[in-house]
Amino acid sequence: METVLSGIRPTGNLHLGNYFGAVKSFVKLQDEYKCFFFIADWHSLTTHPKPADIQQSVRTILAEYLACGIDPEKAAIYVQSDVPEVLELYLYLNMNAYLGELQRVTTFKEKARKQPDNINAGLLTYPTLMAADIIIHRADKVPVGKDQEQNMEMARRFARRFNQMYEVDFFPEPASFAYSDKAVKVPGLDGSGKMGKSEGNAIYLVDDATTIRKKVMKAVTDAGPTLPNSEKPEPVANLFTLLEIVSPKSTYDYFNEQYNNCSIRYGDLKKQLAEDIIAFNTPIRERILSYSSDLPYMERVARMGAEKARESASKTLNEVRHIIGFRSC
Ligand code: AMP
Repeated sequence: METVLSGIRPTGNLHLGNYFGAVKSFVKLQDEYKCFFFIADWHSLTTHPKPADIQQSVRTILAEYLACGIDPEKAAIYVQSDVPEVLELYLYLNMNAYLGELQRVTTFKEKARKQPDNINAGLLTYPTLMAADIIIHRADKVPVGKDQEQNMEMARRFARRFNQMYEVDFFPEPASFAYSDKAVKVPGLDGSGKMGKSEGNAIYLVDDATTIRKKVMKAVTDAGPTLPNSEKPEPVANLFTLLEIVSPKSTYDYFNEQYNNCSIRYGDLKKQLAEDIIAFNTPIRERILSYSSDLPYMERVARMGAEKARESASKTLNEVRHIIGFRSC
């Protein structure tokens, strides 16, 4: 059976981008594959969080994973720092990763530009840690959004390099996975690019109805089309993309028709979009609140996940040690 792995950094609540770009696929894949879904707390250390904040953020993502429908009986849900085997593999991969190629990664360049006072080695070696996360379970498929394509390319490169260096066919080359035929990019409400935590334009799964209405009504639009069937400029196209994602097709078609014949009223579209997002969020939000208050259950889930993940990781690591020429431990 093929293996699937994916993770999310605990740097805030999950938003619609995380859900439709990644978590929705996790829920479907858990029925068909051997799945590992983790909370990437080591990755979050590049931002130097406080200990209490890390604990809280890890619990948040765990409750949100469960609320979205990831079933701990089907998939291993674990916290990255509970699986120390990953770090040993990270070290081996770093010995074979070159400064030039790591410096060329777009996300590293962006982070280095945004935080010139904190260009730490963890940021530079983010792709090797991500590769270690994936190949420690010899994963075949990684459900991720479009924004992770370059990091996935690096993971394939490091897996290939290990195989070539030791003349083995040990690690599969992990493929990005999107449930629909192309990777999803959920846009933000501010008319620019993708929805994201750091972009400050996100709708969170835990947002209540009032918050959602407020955020959607503030979304950027324009003066409206003046010619029939004209192309939609980015802010408006983004609203339609969100409609396509959360609303029934008939709603999308209705507003699209109104746009095409120049009778559209963005206020009506936004009201409908907000109500459809609320309808989508409400049951998930209720489950998030309920799981969040059950710490003993979450503790049990994390322990069970760590056990499954360590079993798989130590098996890989023993073989890696043997391939490299070290004793197994
Ligand atoms: P992050 O929140 O950046 O740690 O991303 C966690 C996961 O959510 C990754 O698989 C991303 O590809 C996915 N993701 C984050 N934002 C978006 C977005 N706006 N559209 C699609 N996928 C996203």
